[in-house]
Amino acid sequence: MNKALRSAVIAGNWKMNKTPSEAKTLIEELKPLVANAGCGVVICVPFVDLQVALEATAGTNIKVGAQNCHFEKSGAFTGEISADMLKEMGVEYVVLGHSERRQYFGETDVTVNKRTLAALNAGLKAIVCVGEKLEDREQGITEELVALQTKIALQGVSKQALKNVIIAYEPVWAIGTGKTATAEQANEVCAAIRATVAKVYDQETADGLTIQYGGSMNAGNAAELVAQPDVDGGLIGGASLKAADFAVIVDAASK
Ligand code: PEP
Repeated sequence: MNKALRSAVIAGNWKMNKTPSEAKTLIEELKPLVANAGCGVVICVPFVDLQVALEATAGTNIKVGAQNCHFEKSGAFTGEISADMLKEMGVEYVVLGHSERRQYFGETDVTVNKRTLAALNAGLKAIVCVGEKLEDREQGITEELVALQTKIALQGVSKQALKNVIIAYEPVWAIGTGKTATAEQANEVCAAIRATVAKVYDQETADGLTIQYGGSMNAGNAAELVAQPDVDGGLIGGASLKAADFAVIVDAASK
């Protein structure tokens, strides 16, 4: 596998943290620390922080993402935000199918697929999350399950549109728990996702796809994880809320 065929991206998932003024402070701290990054740098912030984030990152190498979008274009969906709304604001990325949305907000593989299609149609880049629960891993069905999640999420996504997709492999048992997958485990599943994409599309397309690892990645373990041949950066929760830690992870992925 040739890592040079694709770009590494470090994306921060701030989850439900930081008010707009706190967001501005964190971004101002982060900007000089990642200005020379050799990988993509994205911060996925709460909806209400998007405007501040777009203004604070204007002219920098930091891209801004949201953490969800609805699949309909508009209508009676109180509390929801459409992909077109994000696009018009200048947002570039959106995280879809995060395990917290699957666990707490009824997200399914089918709705992740609908959201992915809506995001891509609107011109956004989608960071699509897949990953197994602890019981799935214990049953030995991780790769089959993640392959299925990937296939369903990408149903109807053309080869061309896939260029705007990042897959984030996030074992649910490793998210926010401090338990990280070993570098080997992370690489094994990222490679299985790539093999799935090669079967559905073709090898060249799969080789060009950015596949991140996410799950308690931090300043101490990032270097080993992102050095794996099939791991192209990371989706970072907790550690993305500390500028210095996030910058260390960005540095690790820049090598
Ligand atoms: C995440 O929210 O996508 C995540 C990986 O969280 P953490 O890094 O805190 O485990």
